[in-house]
Amino acid sequence: MRVCGIPGCGRKVALVIAEGGLCLTHFLDHAFDHASAALAYSRRSLPLDASTLDCLLDDANLAAQLLTETPDPLEIAPRERILEFLLCVANLHEYAARLPALSAHVN
Ligand SMILES: [Zn+2]
Repeated sequence: MRVCGIPGCGRKVALVIAEGGLCLTHFLDHAFDHASAALAYSRRSLPLDASTLDCLLDDANLAAQLLTETPDPLEIAPRERILEFLLCVANLHEYAARLPALSAHVN
């Protein structure tokens, strides 16, 4: 079993997210960082670029798998964070879908 790559963390890395080398807590920290950056754009009515959305969607897929494929039942706190993240990504996708013309112009 691998251990989280963040110095001083030492928590185990779940198989589903083993490729990223981060424990669940740090995986979610990074995922929320990406989502917050995208949310800040959406609050200013700025377009989101496709690669940001793809990245968030990848994280959301992994997070969804964590809910269902982790052998040990997740504690309530991380489970709520995952659900919050999935909701956040869903909102961002809806936002991006409403601004198709703008999204197409982003480099
Ligand atoms: Zn960690």
